[in-house]
Amino acid sequence: RRMITPVIAIDGPSASGKGTLARKLAEKLNFAYLDTGAVYRLVARTVIAHGGNPDDETDAVAAARVVQESFHPEQLEDPALRTDEVAQATSKAAFHGSVRTILMDIQRNFAAHPPAPALGAVLDGRDIGTVVCPDAPLKLYVTASPEIRAERRFKELQYKGIQTTYEAVLQDMRERDARDSGRSVAPLKPAEDAILFDTSDLTADKALEKALHLAQRLAV
Ligand code: C5P
Repeated sequence: RRMITPVIAIDGPSASGKGTLARKLAEKLNFAYLDTGAVYRLVARTVIAHGGNPDDETDAVAAARVVQESFHPEQLEDPALRTDEVAQATSKAAFHGSVRTILMDIQRNFAAHPPAPALGAVLDGRDIGTVVCPDAPLKLYVTASPEIRAERRFKELQYKGIQTTYEAVLQDMRERDARDSGRSVAPLKPAEDAILFDTSDLTADKALEKALHLAQRLAV
């Protein structure tokens, strides 16, 4: 048995295709998958449920503690975490360095001890390769143009029957990108040793194929 669990770090902006890639890659490799964005979403949802304000550090920290103390991976499947309101509140709550520090344990713990029988872990987010798992032997940075990402998200929302416009989705996405890339603590950016995946012109299947090829070097 290996002493060190192999970890794959996948970062990138929203609707870049990183979630789909991470989930499929984990499935193919028999690795466990942690959607760290969903952990941050859980914090924002908790702030909202308690009538708090995600921009307020005290409110956000209190919610992060609640999440940290009662965390269970099943909580991340709640569809209520997927709304646009929660997404915007999430990037506000995630702005506070103190909140990020509290959530570090959950993420590093998962990476070091993925639930059995997983052979390794795939984590996706914004700062996995740069901050959470800087020693990960494989790091991918998945991106696509804002227009393409907005188009994907718009179609997804339309499919769910949610009323919105492409322009509104693009605007929301730009705001969230600016907040995630512009913050001083753990901003969204590729790690120096990350491999870039531009999914503007790469299908989900091709991206998976490429990632599986790169993962061969982890040879578990
Ligand atoms: O990936 P997802 O869109 O679910 O992430 C929601 C928000 O959570 C992001 O916009 C970002 O502000 C925050 N986040 C983060 N660090 C991570 C994952 C997500 O700051 N590792």
